Amino acid sequence: MTDRTKILLDESEMPTSWYNIVPDLPEPPPPALHPGTHDPAGPEDFLPLFPMDLILQEVSTDPYIEIPEEVQEVYKLWRPSPLFRAHRLEKALDTPAHIYYKYEGVSPAGSHKPNTAVPQAYYNKKAGINKLTTETGAGQWGTALAFACSLFDMELDVWQVRASYDQKPYRKAMIEMFGATIHPSPSELTEAGRAILAADPDSPGSLGIAISEAVEMAAPNPDVRYALGSVLNHVLMHQTIIGEEALLQLAKVEETPDVIVGCTGGGSNFGGLTFPFLREKMAGKMNPTIRAVEPEACPSLTKGVYAYDFGDTAGMTPLMKMHTLGHDFVPDPIHAGGLRYHGMAPLLSHIYELGLIEAISIPQSECFEAGVNFARTEGIIPAPEPTHALAATVREALKAKESGEETVILTALCGHGHLDMAAYAQYLAGEIVDFEYPEDKVNDALTRLPQVAS
Ligand SMILES: *Cc1c(COP(=O)(O)O)cnc(C)c1O
Repeated sequence: MTDRTKILLDESEMPTSWYNIVPDLPEPPPPALHPGTHDPAGPEDFLPLFPMDLILQEVSTDPYIEIPEEVQEVYKLWRPSPLFRAHRLEKALDTPAHIYYKYEGVSPAGSHKPNTAVPQAYYNKKAGINKLTTETGAGQWGTALAFACSLFDMELDVWQVRASYDQKPYRKAMIEMFGATIHPSPSELTEAGRAILAADPDSPGSLGIAISEAVEMAAPNPDVRYALGSVLNHVLMHQTIIGEEALLQLAKVEETPDVIVGCTGGGSNFGGLTFPFLREKMAGKMNPTIRAVEPEACPSLTKGVYAYDFGDTAGMTPLMKMHTLGHDFVPDPIHAGGLRYHGMAPLLSHIYELGLIEAISIPQSECFEAGVNFARTEGIIPAPEPTHALAATVREALKAKESGEETVILTALCGHGHLDMAAYAQYLAGEIVDFEYPEDKVNDALTRLPQVAS
């Protein structure tokens, strides 16, 4: 059965629960702290930002949470998503490895982001909220939430990181197409944005700055809530439907993965793919190596410190213990805008500290090369973010070629790159530069970490 190209599930086989890995971990993750008192943050500290249903999911210790029927119905617009065997890439690499990719680019936004955008809009609407704010990097999250808000008849204001706003103009059109409003970040509309612009009128922006602006516009207003596209426990949990489906799909072809690789910006597509497999690994049912891949220009897991830090640049969010490069670190403008975040999901950081996963960083030119080779063999143009996972997949496949082993590799192709063609055009013209790890800039940002008594 292993010669199949597409492994599909019927709609009736779609998982009906999200998986919460927290209760299965040998130690619980450290709590979030109130930014002022540094006491463990309670649900009330999150209420200005999120509806209670999502806060309860954020701190839940139930291993499974049922997906509301209304959300399941929307999921069926693109789920279950296909799992592909990359026969043509394997052949081109002349590797005995079996390469599988779970493709999330079939969603309306073109990435995995709607898996959490839809439930987040749903729970807000259920709580009587009709307007959300958010940030977006490459524009995938802004598009996904705009799509979700259009389904539930909600308003949305999006702050898009300036570097990406200029690089990817059609994301703006797409977000407006779904009925949302978009602003480049830093903007003159918020105190946080004005402060950054005063110091640097040409700031390329960052996800941390855009989060500050979106939070500032939501927190003081009881009718407006904020939605985050990655990093938080409930976001990673919503994404576990990816891994739950992939488990069922690999079982259909009687394969178990030896290596699972995924790209990590805030950690949601990686957590979503790998947590169900990690559950099986912790239960002794399989033993895959699980590896996160991040950009060399923004390597929070491999080079960041594990410490309490703010999720945003201005320091308005609760403090989270995570791998961080410093909340005011502004990464160089690499094309994988979704990976330009100073921190890593606290849950993923904790799992990394427990030694349950590995991490590596890769420079963007190697990633673009892998992306172009993937397009020329498998036909799908990947978003710049998952080209990091593809570059790691290629490294692993070449290792298998050397050893002659039929390594089973699984990766998440978490989005297509149809709106990233300006970046590919630059690569094809030989104009892509690599940004080395900016050690001095990081060390400087780390001097401004909040001081938290341990
Ligand atoms: C947002 C995004 C990412 C980065 O976010 P994660 O939470 O790490 O998944 C990666 N790839 C794509 C296609 C994205 O849209």
